[in-house]
Amino acid sequence: MFKHIMNRIDFIKTMAAITFGVGGIKEFYNQVKDLPDDEIKMPVLFIGHGSPMNAVQKNSFTEALSKAGSKLPKPKAIMVVSAHWLTKGTFVTSSEKPEIIYDFYGFPKEMYEVKYPALGAPEYAKLTTEITKEKIIMPDHEWGIDHGAWTVLLHMFPSADIPVYQLSIDYTKDMDQHYELASMLKVLRKKGVLIIGSGNITHNLGRIDWNIEAKPFDWAMEFDDKIKTNILSDNHSEIINYEKWGNIAKLSHPSNDHYIPLLYSAGLKEKEDTIEFVYEGFHHGSLSMRCIKFG
Ligand code: ZN
Repeated sequence: MFKHIMNRIDFIKTMAAITFGVGGIKEFYNQVKDLPDDEIKMPVLFIGHGSPMNAVQKNSFTEALSKAGSKLPKPKAIMVVSAHWLTKGTFVTSSEKPEIIYDFYGFPKEMYEVKYPALGAPEYAKLTTEITKEKIIMPDHEWGIDHGAWTVLLHMFPSADIPVYQLSIDYTKDMDQHYELASMLKVLRKKGVLIIGSGNITHNLGRIDWNIEAKPFDWAMEFDDKIKTNILSDNHSEIINYEKWGNIAKLSHPSNDHYIPLLYSAGLKEKEDTIEFVYEGFHHGSLSMRCIKFG
């Protein structure tokens, strides 16, 4: 029955795109909204993305990403909450063909030639804007796919055949407000959307060692281990209030942009979800590359 509906939806989408242009997307959106829940609820991921150079390197971290991607059920769309899209207010990218953004400076030329030609997911973005009663999530047509997303996706989904959109981080929100917003987005998991929080559990660029295999700092290991313990015990209030951990929190996050995506991944966890650490380890001494899969 479900397969039959999906085939029909795919058909409508194709026909609408050919025949109706923008109006077709509107029609398709109504179909997405009314879709019955999927048989498989999509897992939620947190990915520690680290240096953009991981995009063109092969190491145990990138191999873990490839392996994790190949084992996931195929999503209908991917929504990334990237540490690199900070806004006032919360937005979702809503264009049909998002541009890849090279949002870093001073990297080798090959980094600016990487392609990730995934399409956007305007219909899922629209569905996302309608989730909160107050409509606090707004559409955006300017942002594309930033390196917090594509450096990870090209290892996980190398064929770039799944539509991608991003949710921005409203930097005016408190930690508990991010967590609360995340929990409202749980419905997307049942509609086939894979949600990925992309940041780092420790992220201190002022203290990085240029050697990727440098010994991790004690404060980074302590902070990362505390997160691991609280994730495993579902003690999310500790994760929300991490700043009270004092010095290790300050050293691990001189600014909190790379920490906030973890609040989205944790906030999307449901009671029955299993917890798996897809990768554990550090790069450059101060970056925890820990990746988590819920569900
Ligand atoms: Zn980053």
